[in-house]
Amino acid sequence: MSQRPICLITGASAGIGAACARLAAPDYDLVLNYRANRADAEAVQRDVEAVGATCVIVKGDVSNPEDIQTIFQAADDAFGRVDVLINNAGIVGTSAKLTEMDHARIAQIMNVNVIGAMLVAKEAVIRMQAKGDGGAIINVSSAAARLGSGNQYLDYAASKGAIDTFTKGLSDEVAGDNIRVMSVRPGIILTDIHGKGGEPDRATRMGPNVPMKRAGTAEEVAEAILWLASSKASYVTGSALDVTGGR
Ligand code: NAP
Repeated sequence: MSQRPICLITGASAGIGAACARLAAPDYDLVLNYRANRADAEAVQRDVEAVGATCVIVKGDVSNPEDIQTIFQAADDAFGRVDVLINNAGIVGTSAKLTEMDHARIAQIMNVNVIGAMLVAKEAVIRMQAKGDGGAIINVSSAAARLGSGNQYLDYAASKGAIDTFTKGLSDEVAGDNIRVMSVRPGIILTDIHGKGGEPDRATRMGPNVPMKRAGTAEEVAEAILWLASSKASYVTGSALDVTGGR
């Protein structure tokens, strides 16, 4: 059985999740989830194994409850425990006003970003409570939770607002089990999510409007997440940490 702490990351084939995996590799063994892009997940796996991590990758859509069971079964089979969950998988729609959004769009955003994240956290809590020595859950929210993102994607912003509320509530629920629950709110970060939302140049275009005059990197967000996961943040729970360059 592995002696290193086990970190499970959803959406680890790209962007912030992949950056977390690479940063965590010297200190953790890893369970890396991806939705579709196996080649990119395998590239992350090679990188983390090269610095000594034992790593399993597992395909699964967090909006599908059966896939969530598959993800955690992979963790159970490989390591028998989960010590840190980076609850990162998330999607955004194309830029639109509420009057242009239909049920299918809003439901998909909520199924992935809210219901999926809650059920993933549930499975992590069950395992952390069973092993009895606590853990850390970092939910990846967004500055959109504060800003509302009107005229762009307020469905996404509302989903991240729900994540911040969920973070606070769950942190109260499991504090007595020494399980810390936090959210990180990235601002405008240079990843492919903007292209998936139909605006590949969004981060470079909006970067100069940020108080720090630039977009952030996935690695800068990963540093904050891994700090929250570590024992250096041992008295932090229920918090939302902005990683936004001041936005
Ligand atoms: P990204 O580059 O698009 O990567 C998203 C990752 O999530 C990929 O590994 C993707 O896998 C996976 N994923 C997507 N849908 C999934 C699903 N249903 N089930 C499992 N995995 C799924 O995005 P990112 O920018 O790194 O975003 C990561 C998190 O940060 C998200 O929660 C996002 O809302 C949040 N965030 C990002 C920014 C930003 O500016 N980039 C700002 C604030 C918050 P596949 O590639 O296989 O689809």
